Amino acid sequence: MSGTLSFDALKSQVASGAIDTVLACFVDMQGRLMGKRFHADNFVETSYRETHCCNYLLATDLEMATPDGYAASSWEKGYGDYVMKPDLTTIRPVPWLEGTAMVLCDILDHHTHEEVPHAPRAVLKRQIAKLKELGFTAMMATELEFFLFEKSFDEIRKSGFRDLTPISGYNEDYHIFQTTKEEAVMRPVRNHLFAAGIPVENTKGEAEAGQEELNIRYSEALDCADHHTIAKHAIKEISWAAGRAASFLPKWHPDRVGSAAHVHQSLWTGDKPAFFDANDPLGMSEIMRHYMAGLIAYAPDYTYFLAPYVNSYKRFSKGTFAPTKTVWSVDNRTAGFRLCGDGTNGVRVECRIGGSDLNPYLAQAAMLAAGIKGIEDKLELAPDTSGDVYENEKAADIPRTLRDATVTLRSSKMLRAAMGDEVVDHYVRASEWEQEEFDRAVTDWEIARGFERA
Ligand code: ADP
Repeated sequence: MSGTLSFDALKSQVASGAIDTVLACFVDMQGRLMGKRFHADNFVETSYRETHCCNYLLATDLEMATPDGYAASSWEKGYGDYVMKPDLTTIRPVPWLEGTAMVLCDILDHHTHEEVPHAPRAVLKRQIAKLKELGFTAMMATELEFFLFEKSFDEIRKSGFRDLTPISGYNEDYHIFQTTKEEAVMRPVRNHLFAAGIPVENTKGEAEAGQEELNIRYSEALDCADHHTIAKHAIKEISWAAGRAASFLPKWHPDRVGSAAHVHQSLWTGDKPAFFDANDPLGMSEIMRHYMAGLIAYAPDYTYFLAPYVNSYKRFSKGTFAPTKTVWSVDNRTAGFRLCGDGTNGVRVECRIGGSDLNPYLAQAAMLAAGIKGIEDKLELAPDTSGDVYENEKAADIPRTLRDATVTLRSSKMLRAAMGDEVVDHYVRASEWEQEEFDRAVTDWEIARGFERA
């Protein structure tokens, strides 16, 4: 339960006039909030039960196109409705907007009222339920990295995305002075999110000019994904209100470091850390070793869910803190998987592969599926690696392009068994479509290279 307002508390705030608008939102394939703005009276009287949306919203791309090839929705099927079912445990104020509250909705079939299997929240819930059968809950944290730019989204779009000047003139990793200059955006981000019930730990400057990081306290997987999604949305809205742009594109410049969304993961049994064993030199339990072995063995299968666009793969380059290899290491930022908190209750694995553009529900679901498979099959964890993993030729590579990741996703028996064929096929189609759209594009690079000299 990630909300801070009960339905009764919402009703009293609507009655007092403190809240006049309720955002009923669901999460789309890209991890964005989509939905409707309700007059609060209507929401608390009737629409809290359910509302509706066109089913193309879970079969579209970033541009809201209607690609062919999806089994679930198409022109042929007439693009009917889905039910948006408000999850009343997620009601929260939206303090950065006046008189507004928000509720997250699950997406149900219009006729059967069953959850739509490829809806991101449903995909994650399915893995959480599986984990529960094994006696565990997953605690997760996603670190949000992004860039702040001097100008607004509208100004940048109107200049053809040419005028990209980061808000800072230099690498601001852990810088207090430079980040002081950014407090007009970052202070409201921290405080408004906190007031919305999102347990913000801190923000900091990151290792590039204009790059920021937001850390949110770890929580159960579904709450963590809800927090991530709302935080990303809030960062864009708060930046927009301040006349700035916040971008989660993983790689906006070939010579600048990219933005990640590292995912910290641990399993628990009740309030006991199932990953911790005091007798192990690193404090790692057998369960943790099997889980990590699954994460590593199946990394190519689920890379698409960590890197869902053509641009995502531009981030994976040597010497940028973005990994290129699917190995693990102890507190070493050059490997795909980093052991953190070793020897303590907080022992956990951080997956460093994901970019800032990942959908946290799908990413966490896919990693849980891989970890669960590791536990079920008692997979053995290979020894850790050390040194500069970029230069380790024996270590396996992360799929290097969206095309490669589509092949490994399509042929993943593990994900097909864990998520179901219809879910995997749905996202394979999304991935193919993204590649088809890119292949159709004539890029600036091609024109500059060949216009005169070809
Ligand atoms: P870093 O040095 O990478 O910034 P932090 O100590 O700030 O590491 O922690 C990073 C994230 O890990 C935080 O969001 C924190 O809440 C989360 N975290 C801490 N303990 C756990 C745990 N046991 N399981 C999952 N996430 C955790």
